[in-house]
Amino acid sequence: MNEEFQDLYREIILDHNKSPRNCRTMENPDRVVQGKNPLCGDNYKVYVKLDGDTVSDVSFEGSGCAISKASASVMTEFLKGKSIDEVEKFFNLFHEMVTGKLDVDDCFDEVGKLAAFAGVAEFPVRVKCATLAWHAVHTAVTSEEAEASTES
Ligand code: ZN
Repeated sequence: MNEEFQDLYREIILDHNKSPRNCRTMENPDRVVQGKNPLCGDNYKVYVKLDGDTVSDVSFEGSGCAISKASASVMTEFLKGKSIDEVEKFFNLFHEMVTGKLDVDDCFDEVGKLAAFAGVAEFPVRVKCATLAWHAVHTAVTSEEAEASTES
C-alpha cells in the first residue's frame, strides 16, 4: 500500500471517530445485539432493520476506542442496502483483511472504505476492536442471540 493511501485511510478513521455515522438509537429495530470486547472495553449496541433479506437500516450506540468506533461507523454506512448474504460475505472478507489473510490489494474494488482498516493487520491486539461491530451485525442477521462477544 502506498503512502498516499495510508494517509487517506488515516483520515477516514479519524473522521469517523470524530463524527460517527448512524450513531443513534433505532426506533422499532428488527434485531438488537449488544457487542462486547472485554479486552479493550469496547461496548456497542447494534440495531438492524430488515426489509425481507435486505438490511434497510443499521445503527449503533455505545462507547469504545477510536478503532472500534470508526469501524462501527464505516460498517453501518457500508452495509445499508446490502443483503444478508452480502453482510456475511463482507463480515468474512473484513475479518480476513484485518487479520492479514487477505491482501487489501486483492479486494480493493469490492471493499471501498473498509480498506481503511487493512492496516489493523499490523496490530493484532486491535483486530477485536475493528471486528466488534461486525460480530454484532453477523450475530443479528444469523441468530436469535442478543449478545456478541469477541471472546466467543
Ligand atoms: Zn478497542
